[in-house]
Amino acid sequence: MNIFYYDIAVNVPLRKCFTYKSNTKIPVGTRVQVSFGTKKVLGIVIRKLKKINPQIKKNTIKDAIPIDEHKCFDKSTFDSVLWASEYYHHPIGEVFFSFIPTILRKDASKKITRIKTKINYSINEADKSFELNDEQKKAINNISKIKGFDPSLLYGVTGSGKTEVYLRLTENYIKKDKSVLILVPEINLTPQLINRFKNRFNGEIGVFHSNLTPKKRFETWLKSKFGVIKIVIGTRSSIMMPLDELGLIIVDEEHDQSYRQSEGFKFSARDMAIKRSQIENIPLILGSATPSLQTLKLVSEKKFKKFEILKRTDGKSPPKLIALDINNSELIEGIAEESMTAIEKTISKGEQALVFINRRGFAPLSECADCGWVASCKLCDSNLVFHKSKNRLICHKCESVFKVSKACPECNSSKIETHGLGTEKIEEVLKSKFVNIPIIRFDHDSTKRKGSLEEIYSQIHESRAAILVGTQMLTKGHDFPRVTMCVILNADNGLISPELNAIEKISQQLIQVSGRAGRNNNLAKVIIQTRYPDDLNLKKIKTGNYKLIADQCLENSKLKNFPPYSSICLLRCTSPNSNNCLNFLNRAHQILKSKNKLNAIGPLPSIPSKVKGNSRFHLVLQSSTKTYLNRVLKFLINEFENWPEAKKIKWSFDIDPYDMS
Ligand SMILES: [Zn+2]
Ligand SMILES: [Zn+2]
Repeated sequence: MNIFYYDIAVNVPLRKCFTYKSNTKIPVGTRVQVSFGTKKVLGIVIRKLKKINPQIKKNTIKDAIPIDEHKCFDKSTFDSVLWASEYYHHPIGEVFFSFIPTILRKDASKKITRIKTKINYSINEADKSFELNDEQKKAINNISKIKGFDPSLLYGVTGSGKTEVYLRLTENYIKKDKSVLILVPEINLTPQLINRFKNRFNGEIGVFHSNLTPKKRFETWLKSKFGVIKIVIGTRSSIMMPLDELGLIIVDEEHDQSYRQSEGFKFSARDMAIKRSQIENIPLILGSATPSLQTLKLVSEKKFKKFEILKRTDGKSPPKLIALDINNSELIEGIAEESMTAIEKTISKGEQALVFINRRGFAPLSECADCGWVASCKLCDSNLVFHKSKNRLICHKCESVFKVSKACPECNSSKIETHGLGTEKIEEVLKSKFVNIPIIRFDHDSTKRKGSLEEIYSQIHESRAAILVGTQMLTKGHDFPRVTMCVILNADNGLISPELNAIEKISQQLIQVSGRAGRNNNLAKVIIQTRYPDDLNLKKIKTGNYKLIADQCLENSKLKNFPPYSSICLLRCTSPNSNNCLNFLNRAHQILKSKNKLNAIGPLPSIPSKVKGNSRFHLVLQSSTKTYLNRVLKFLINEFENWPEAKKIKWSFDIDPYDMS
């Protein structure tokens, strides 16, 4: 009887596979059941072994029992996930299991069974009743000609009709019986995009995101795998959807930070999309009005193609951005009189105004006027935000909720005051000033309840004069045709931030906010309230020309050897005891001193430095070449295995981090 040996990945935080045997051939990517310690667990076959490690005694090797007759990962998803586990240096089992439907992760009685019913997709021609403009036509024609792996940036200003380009390209693939994967930053914020696809195609559109029930997600996964669903629209968790005959991947709003998973297995779905399309050897479209610097750099190096749509489909000119100097203005809870007048004028014409403030809640600071005590979270290094609607103090880092104390716990004074601005306070101020006008708050709190987002959208679309108050949620994908003016309240935080990609982020945000306005109006106006009207970056942002500012950011990064011109990894460390973190990171820093092509900075406290009772520190590791950085990370992993310091803490790598804190 033949015996085959396999490397199996199990869902444990270890950067290695385990050897098992079987007397049947099991294909790579299949689920198996194995004994692990005293437990029976599930694993994934990673490779068939030609010979086994001589240190392992053959008679101690246990059996792997195959579960499904179908593979969990086909060749290309398998290779992509394997790449991710190596690129992100994350435990291989955890990486593979994060791309398996929850229902299949633990339960061997749940099987992958073929779905036989096939749907024939057809195109609803009546939905294509309008003319494409020349730029749209050019993009569609040229992208249609691409064969194999050849990524394109679709750089389209907001309102330029990128979605129509996605629809036409998808149609081409559907006609060839191929499938298409469309990634979006946050699914519940993009009902318009999903509806456009539903209207255009007769046939099921798979919608996939983490808020669905495990059962629903499994159903969509199975339907994709067996070719029943050919179009999937999903968030970052859908990047490894097992679509049959995948022909095209689209990443909409590719610059958006929601593509990064920052907890547990830290990865970027945008970057994995690039890798997957390379492995599948298919075209990839990265769409954005404010592309990331990485993408722009690859375009400039001719590694990515670029297609531009610089005209809006409605033919209207982009909104006018105005920097309003508030140094000598009287502010009514953060809103300048000029802004108030502009809001008043807008609603008197039966139009809508949008007030943007990137902070939810009522006030970010509760302070004792007598002794200076500040309400802060017991578990985190974070001040509590007062939420008036709930009459509670909430920690925005861990979401812990606290009662509002009537007296100061330090000096017993009753003079507890709230300071600063949040969406709730702005809503209150506007309500008292504009009594008969709907004031619609749009933030994490007002949209949390199921169905509330739909209610808010329909309220906005049914109202005439109205004022929208919201956080960055407002900037993601949704169009508000009646909004003809915006006021941006706290842009200064972004302008003066020391964060290395702060200007890229704030300019993306401001241009995205202003893009929501004036879809139906020529005279749309965006007021940016600022104490730094002469700031050079602000002057560039005011032109509304994102390319101008992005080029400047790229040049700065090149001069300073920052990403995307170098590679960065954060070695993150958490422990209830901050000394344990420091001992570990100091030792790591010490041994890195001999690595002359690597720059190590730290240990630094992360921001916030404490979350849920755990202290957080990190070391910044920077190198000009990714290959060298990778080699160093592998060296570190080996070192850590033998360090007593490493046993006392939790460490992880954050590769290509979104921010450095
Ligand atoms: Zn006090
Ligand atoms: Zn907290």
